[in-house]
Amino acid sequence: MQLENIKGIGPKTLNTLKRLGINNSYDLLTYYPFRYDFIKRTGLNEEKVILDGIVESNAVVTYLKNHKDKLQFRFNFGKLVDVVIFNRGFYKNKIIIGTKLTVFGKYDSKKNIIVCSDIKFCLLGNSTKIEPVYHVTTGINSSQLNSIINLVDEDVIDYVPTYLNDKYELMSKKAAISAIHNPHDEITLKRAIDKLKYEELFLFMLKMNHLKSKKIQNGLIRNVEKNKVQEFIDKLPFKLTIDQIKAVEDIYEDLTSNKRMNRLLQGDVGSGKTIVSFVALYINFLGGYQGALMAPTEILARQHYNNLVKLLPNLKIGLLTGKLKAKEKREIYGGLLDGSIDIVIGTHALISEEVKYKNLGLVITDEQHRFGVNQRSNLKNKGIMPDVLYMSATPIPRTYAITLFGDMDISSIKTKPAGRKEIISILKKESEIKEVLTKMYEELKLNHQVYVIAPLIEESDKITLENVIKLRDKMNLAFGKLYTIDVMHGKLSNKEKEVVMNRFKNNEIQILISTTVIEVGVDVPNATVMVVFDSYRFGLSALHQLRGRVGRNDLQSYFIMISNQEAERLKILTKTTDGFEISEADFKLRGSGDLFGVRQSGDMQFKLANLKRDFKMVVKAKEDSLEFMNKQDSKYQYIYDILKQLDSLD
Ligand code: ADP
Ligand code: MG
Repeated sequence: MQLENIKGIGPKTLNTLKRLGINNSYDLLTYYPFRYDFIKRTGLNEEKVILDGIVESNAVVTYLKNHKDKLQFRFNFGKLVDVVIFNRGFYKNKIIIGTKLTVFGKYDSKKNIIVCSDIKFCLLGNSTKIEPVYHVTTGINSSQLNSIINLVDEDVIDYVPTYLNDKYELMSKKAAISAIHNPHDEITLKRAIDKLKYEELFLFMLKMNHLKSKKIQNGLIRNVEKNKVQEFIDKLPFKLTIDQIKAVEDIYEDLTSNKRMNRLLQGDVGSGKTIVSFVALYINFLGGYQGALMAPTEILARQHYNNLVKLLPNLKIGLLTGKLKAKEKREIYGGLLDGSIDIVIGTHALISEEVKYKNLGLVITDEQHRFGVNQRSNLKNKGIMPDVLYMSATPIPRTYAITLFGDMDISSIKTKPAGRKEIISILKKESEIKEVLTKMYEELKLNHQVYVIAPLIEESDKITLENVIKLRDKMNLAFGKLYTIDVMHGKLSNKEKEVVMNRFKNNEIQILISTTVIEVGVDVPNATVMVVFDSYRFGLSALHQLRGRVGRNDLQSYFIMISNQEAERLKILTKTTDGFEISEADFKLRGSGDLFGVRQSGDMQFKLANLKRDFKMVVKAKEDSLEFMNKQDSKYQYIYDILKQLDSLD
């Protein structure tokens, strides 16, 4: 209904409501209170008193300067007091002997006076009065807005199917809306909120499921023999873990059916996602399509490239990064366009304007959280709809992921390859550096290698670099005679970085001092110690990622944080290696609403529900909405119609 048609709403109110974003009667009904005041009678000794009583003397008004006034009367609540309230002179005629009312204010025992902030012309009795509080603007207060909302009297459509209302004993939508604005008791209020939350979540999940099912049918179908894939797996230098096998199976299913793959491969650092992605690329190749693997850094792209070339020597594999020479780039572009390149590995460059593929069938992004979601639309803009696999170590609990990415399937690798020892994590003060050096030396003597991480100074590359150099000098002083020490930082050219990385891989460098350029993905299993200076400068998840660079084989590894600050926070890492717990802690400490690099999109903005807090309900809504979709009961056509609107948006 138009607001203009509601009796009692004048043009001035109309404007005020518009300013609150309320444009019609439904907006008004669903403009929910953001909190409630629970009002209960108090005794005299509380800081703020709320008392029921009877007026013992007619009110007297005195006029003060600046158009202010003071109203005063005697009040009996079992005891006699004077009551004063300012600027309510207009109550004079209502406050007469015998009037029953409730006063809100502060009691001054010396003067035996209550200075009021408010007076209500009713009695609370023994019950608790629940008052809704709304976000308001100038020109309207909570109680006025509440009265306006109560002017609306119309039917609302309940988008929860009857059988689900019955199943959870949910109240009708109309009753819920009425109760959320005018709650009589706490239990009913909670039921009202639950109902409205459930409706929000049910509809959200319904839309998500719908979007997902739409994507399902238009995928590329590949004809790939399973035993060809198995042959490749059998030749790998290690046996896949159960979770890796399961992930490979999921991907094989997707790629060989008409289902378009949109899958997240989630697994903590070191769980072995890379090899799964290689198998996926191979399946895609056998199916006759080109594949692309996108990594967040040059180093990582090169590492993947070198590994894949070793595993698939007969394929034509290209490496494309932003810093290649123009001629080298052109060669790769040519190979991708004429189809002579089977698989390309690279950085963002892979999806830049110039790159055209002959028949791209699969795109994999490693450490997806570093990219955000834009590359998805980037590919769409190119007019190609390849299958997509995202890999991420940012540990989102599976369940969060499902809700946030309701249109995405998930494969999780929970177990690490067999024989891995838990990394020992230690927190040290700068004054304890001797002990740290001792530990390093012990491991170096065993012919193991060490990472030393210099703090990243966000404001300045220059200071960061200075730190790296300072650390190198320090390390040279301690170990320079016995071991080779070198540095890695963002100012090095790609060529230089690669040279350093390869020397470290081949154990020609024993101590690598680095900024966080090595944070993601880098794989040197013989490195068993990582020392992070000024650890407090890093987020917990970043430190956890760094830690994942060690503990990559069956050797005992050590992760040593050095910090004179924030011991409390850093200790979390010494207590758990559960990436999920760590990201939860980070989440709480930083208060960021930014899981996975994607903010909740407009579609996910709920009025009442909260994906995290109401998680159990989220899961139920997810299941219920799936079941409901499959029903296709014509009785509920009005609900299915909502989904049609979604299609027309496409
Ligand atoms: P992440 O999931 O962090 O990307 P990687 O794919 O880099 O992890 O794997 C970590 C290390 O474990 C690599 O050295 C890799 O070769 C090794 N690895 C992977 N899978 C297995 C396995 N099933 N058995 C033994 N080692 C494995
Ligand atoms: Mg990785």
